Amino acid sequence: MSDQKTINIIGWGLAGATLAWQLFKRKVPFQVYDNGVNFSSRVAAGLVNPIVFKRLTKSWKADILLPFAKDFYSEIEEITSFQFLSNRSIARVFASVEEQNNWASLSGDERFASYLSEIDELNESLIQAPFGIGRVITIGNLDVNAFLDRSKDNLIEQGVTFINRPFNSKMIDQDEYVFCEGYKIIQNPFFGYIPMKPTHGDVLTIRSDQLRIEDIVNKNMFILPLGDGLYRVGATYNWDKLEPEPTIEGKDELIDKLRSFTTFPFEVIQHDAGIRPTVSDRRPFLGTHPKNKKLHVFNGLGTKGVMIAPFYAEQMANYLCLGKVIDEDVDVRRFDKFYPS
Ligand SMILES: Cc1cc2nc3c(=O)[nH]c(=O)nc-3n(C[C@H](O)[C@H](O)[C@H](O)COP(=O)(O)OP(=O)(O)OC[C@H]3O[C@@H](n4cnc5c(N)ncnc54)[C@H](O)[C@@H]3O)c2cc1C
Repeated sequence: MSDQKTINIIGWGLAGATLAWQLFKRKVPFQVYDNGVNFSSRVAAGLVNPIVFKRLTKSWKADILLPFAKDFYSEIEEITSFQFLSNRSIARVFASVEEQNNWASLSGDERFASYLSEIDELNESLIQAPFGIGRVITIGNLDVNAFLDRSKDNLIEQGVTFINRPFNSKMIDQDEYVFCEGYKIIQNPFFGYIPMKPTHGDVLTIRSDQLRIEDIVNKNMFILPLGDGLYRVGATYNWDKLEPEPTIEGKDELIDKLRSFTTFPFEVIQHDAGIRPTVSDRRPFLGTHPKNKKLHVFNGLGTKGVMIAPFYAEQMANYLCLGKVIDEDVDVRRFDKFYPS
């Protein structure tokens, strides 16, 4: 890439914002377009969970991605003088003796020791946990909205241009463009060939004055304390719905799940939904258009965008600025076979 060209980031979600910081650190000229109708990052609970509870394994590349994400967000916390990370654990409520036993044997395994605590009791009688809990040691959750807003304010102060309007292909000139459009990439005239499998998700904000928890609680759903008696609970996964509106079925599913292991009274005060940008191999994708070398993409953050974005934003920036190679398993070229010849 020519050093003189401005890079245009299209989209201010986690992908665009993490990439922006990496370009800023490299002193590369860039500007950001965003249409202000975010459907994923701004509804995300921001949880960072390095464990796949269903199979009790580590999630993809957790040993690399989690420490990288921790360092990255901590650095931006320092730059912006704002705390985005909650730095608390996730209390997994066991569903059976079998799950409890599996946890016990894994927490003694040195490959998992830094992530899994010993088995414990949940100190909250309004949540039923007869088989006990295990805690996942993590960086908790990222306040994604604050991260996006504070980052934007800080970068504007430092001279970065933000253009608050939709970007369309007629605006393309001599510059470089990185499309970080989330699931809306399905409408992109250049990258629409990528076989997206977007995942709709509902989340609720509830109020309960009786519940007193500090951990994030998980039992096939999460309960995330927000403070002042408010909790976010979620999320659903629906691969058939492509519109980002909240659904009654999603709300009912979340309430049923919550009632299945808790006894606290609550009131639903907000219902949101979004669409996760997912592909079927569930890996991010980054790189350059098969034919037009000034068009690039950074997307596919899926269900774990908070943990994945910082590491691959750095890889994307090194690729754009230094010509470094992108890891094969995340290179957008794996989709070249879908590009119409
Ligand atoms: C309900 C729900 C819960 C989630 N919970 C978690 C969680 O707990 N932990 C976690 O790690 N991840 C979670 N996620 C996933 C996470 O939100 C995503 O991985 C991540 O936010 C995707 O970021 P993105 O920047 O790729 O896309 P988006 O956040 O969708 O951002 C894309 C941006 O581009 C803009 N845009 C698109 N097209 C244009 C255009 N042509 N011109 C200008 N602007 C444009 C959009 O308006 C938007 O602002 C959740 C997602 C959902 C839906």
